[in-house]
Amino acid sequence: MEVSARTATLELAETFVISRESSDTAEVVFVEVRHGKVSGFGEAAPIDRYGENTESALAYVEENGDLLGDDPFALEAIEQRLPPGEWAARAAIDAALHDLQGKLVDLPVWRLLGLEREGPPTSWTIWLGEPDDMARRATRAVDFARLKLKLGARDGRDVERVRAVREVTRAPLQVDVNEAWTFDEAGDALPQLAELGVAYCEQPLPAGDPDGARLKAASPIPIYVDEDCHRLSDVATCAERAHGINIKLAKSGGIREAVRMAHAARALDLGVMLGCMVESGLGIAAATQIASLCHHVDLDGNLLLAEDPWPGVEFNDGIQWPSDQPGLGVREEVPDPR
Ligand code: MG
Repeated sequence: MEVSARTATLELAETFVISRESSDTAEVVFVEVRHGKVSGFGEAAPIDRYGENTESALAYVEENGDLLGDDPFALEAIEQRLPPGEWAARAAIDAALHDLQGKLVDLPVWRLLGLEREGPPTSWTIWLGEPDDMARRATRAVDFARLKLKLGARDGRDVERVRAVREVTRAPLQVDVNEAWTFDEAGDALPQLAELGVAYCEQPLPAGDPDGARLKAASPIPIYVDEDCHRLSDVATCAERAHGINIKLAKSGGIREAVRMAHAARALDLGVMLGCMVESGLGIAAATQIASLCHHVDLDGNLLLAEDPWPGVEFNDGIQWPSDQPGLGVREEVPDPR
């Protein structure tokens, strides 16, 4: 198999703001794996927080392309041959191999995996902002069955933000603090969020915070961990500090490890959420293939873009549906030269 990769810049429809950063664009890497005349594609959305970027992801794909060998169905062996690290790049390779397999046997990936097409409805992200501004943006999100509010502004007004949004919508709410609270701040906010009907809280404490287990025991609403949970080997520890995990392909290194994590989490009685980065329909398409294995889905990355260069995922009835076309079922839209 031959591998190639290139970087791309995605433009957001509105500025992305979370507790640790803000941006108007997202940098990603598109990977192509060729086998004879058939190509599979995958997307890497490297996460700064873990020391990854498009340069390191691109270098990983270029340095390790030869290790893929010639059998696109030998996923377990390929995974063993690839050196650890650069999980977003690995996820792109894994997605491209799944896309290739599906095209070779003329089946969508979710069928190859033996899964249902339909998953839970996706949440829609309301970026961190002033309470009235977040409420204004929430009123516009009429196509979505649930809203995910980004919190963690470190200004003592996070509960006020949720209250402002709750005043304008009856939609189910979840919050993502992105590691910004202390144990005491979480202890103060979580009962108030419970009263406002927030369904669950994602990553209130910094990853690895020694008070995680104590907060799990005290919290009136479920705690989900994201920054704490990357791969299969993290899941058992997360069961001590959370009621659920947020799986992302950019952290797990791809669909294969994500499926293992979903099953491990269920065995430990954990809720399973499937999340994403700001990424195009190519990356979102890979995640939608396994959405039916998850209790909660947060796959709005491509919908947050000004324009999605890889259409094919269908947003309907609040659900991000994987295509019924072979492989990942998305195709790159070449911009009109006019
Ligand atoms: Mg998160």
